[in-house]
Amino acid sequence: MEIEWPPDLKSRYNEVMKRLTEAGLRRTKFRQNLFALFFETEPYALSIEEIRAHPIVQSPDTVTVYRNIEALSRVGLLDCVFDEKGRSRYKLSEGDGPKLKIACRDCHATFVRSSPVLPELESVARELGYSGLSSRWEIMGYCEECAEKRSAEAV
Ligand SMILES: [Zn+2]
Repeated sequence: MEIEWPPDLKSRYNEVMKRLTEAGLRRTKFRQNLFALFFETEPYALSIEEIRAHPIVQSPDTVTVYRNIEALSRVGLLDCVFDEKGRSRYKLSEGDGPKLKIACRDCHATFVRSSPVLPELESVARELGYSGLSSRWEIMGYCEECAEKRSAEAV
């Protein structure tokens, strides 16, 4: 059964599915559910354990989750951020080009933004003769909500 998407998500979902097909990956039920999960849990980046435990993906086996996460990351459909414990967390990667990830240390709310500064920074590598560039830009901090909680607890 196809998932019923609200209009704003429908176009994003179609775009993600298009990129999936273009990357030569099949549109499996599990991948469809996985994308639904990432939309549902925005803006949080999810660990493998959280993905496995979520009812939307219908408790698949660990190997299925790992293989899919690996395949989707390889073709650039997922972004990976590392949390404070060094654990990988994932979220959908939309749009091309270098991106800046801004993540909360407490709740893992993660925002991905592009910035004209990033291609400029990559040009430093290009000047050194490097090609096929990929780069990882991350800022960690506390989101507004978590910062408020922290200051309330400190009193
Ligand atoms: Zn937070």
